[in-house]
Amino acid sequence: MYFNSKGDVVYKETGVDIRKNICHRCHNRDKKLFYEFYSELYGRDVKYCLNCIGLGRVDSMSPLKGTETRRKSEQCDYELNFELTDIQKEASKKVVSAIRNKHHLLLHAVTGAGKTEIIFEGIKFARAHGLNVAVVSPRIDVVKEVHLRLGDAFRKSRIDLMFAGVKVKFEHHFTVCTVHQLYNFHDHFDCIIVDEYDAFPLADDKHLLGAIDKAGTVDGNIIIMTATPTRKMVSYVGEGNVFQIARRYHGHDLTVPVIHYGNVNKEVRRKRLNGKLKRLLDDITAADRRVLVFFPEIKMMYDAYPLILKYFGEAETVYSGDEARYSKVERMRAGGIKILLTTTILERGVTFKNLDVIVVHTEYFPSDTLIQICGRVGRKPQDPTGNVHFITLYNTHHIQKTVRTINAFNKGRSVI
Ligand SMILES: [Zn+2]
Repeated sequence: MYFNSKGDVVYKETGVDIRKNICHRCHNRDKKLFYEFYSELYGRDVKYCLNCIGLGRVDSMSPLKGTETRRKSEQCDYELNFELTDIQKEASKKVVSAIRNKHHLLLHAVTGAGKTEIIFEGIKFARAHGLNVAVVSPRIDVVKEVHLRLGDAFRKSRIDLMFAGVKVKFEHHFTVCTVHQLYNFHDHFDCIIVDEYDAFPLADDKHLLGAIDKAGTVDGNIIIMTATPTRKMVSYVGEGNVFQIARRYHGHDLTVPVIHYGNVNKEVRRKRLNGKLKRLLDDITAADRRVLVFFPEIKMMYDAYPLILKYFGEAETVYSGDEARYSKVERMRAGGIKILLTTTILERGVTFKNLDVIVVHTEYFPSDTLIQICGRVGRKPQDPTGNVHFITLYNTHHIQKTVRTINAFNKGRSVI
């Protein structure tokens, strides 16, 4: 079933049970995540759920309505203008087999392994057998990018797209959406493919993790794709259901970061640009490459920005609350921006040509973020390496783990 106010089935008499303190749409039971007020109109207390308010209000006065799930098989052919590598083909077979045999699967793929292409055959198989498929991610950027790539390949298929504020809906047979949007579904998808399973806020949000299970059918399967798996994920899918793709699709090694020591922030406060950072930026711009400079805090980034602007004439900043964020990413892609200062918002989901990366005050970053950041470079076969520089106050366990993990990937060893 998928919930919608025009639905012809009443799933629950009221969306929120005021006594049992539960939201029937998102299963929230946390008292702090409800709002209660006295309604003059109804002459009684009304309670609504704050956890899923982004999808429209569910309260203790109105019924939760929906439309029954339907299934329809469809010949979902796709076009791919290159051949999958042997390891991609093997992974693709694992995906089809997981869908056919209804078991979960964890695809442990290095960044740039070509994950999206790996799921094409599985989607085709599922749709040919009338299964409802969702490709979801916690991040809007990733959802948009995946939707574009699926749309390019599955030209004749109608693909739903849903994320905050945007809804292109057909029949929910083949859906690309954020994990949040799964609150709208109950026992509906036979196969849910979760890209960037480790990304914020999914990994730590029990309601969102629950939404994946609830939106899936009882005997359906879930395919997790991630570059940084955890023991928890492995036990969720089952020990035997992990497949690792340790190499990028173009076959080159992942770039191992170069570590430099320095205190960028201290010098910025004295209105000086750290010499190491300046030299790295000089070299990168002289080589006509572009660079993402990652900062651990917005304030630190904005303090450094005028100094970088002064030396290099042009630079831009981006962070999660920046309304021009998407247009700046587009300009960077088109070559209009050479130096882009950023918070971790661009740690994943973006691909730029001829890109190098500098991480400032690396001692602040956890290793899974650093692994994602390192994965930004060398994604294109025309520029398969790229350079990654960590500028740090001191070496940390997380920096060491990042280097160790990347080296293990390059040697083809398992790192879980
Ligand atoms: Zn709710």
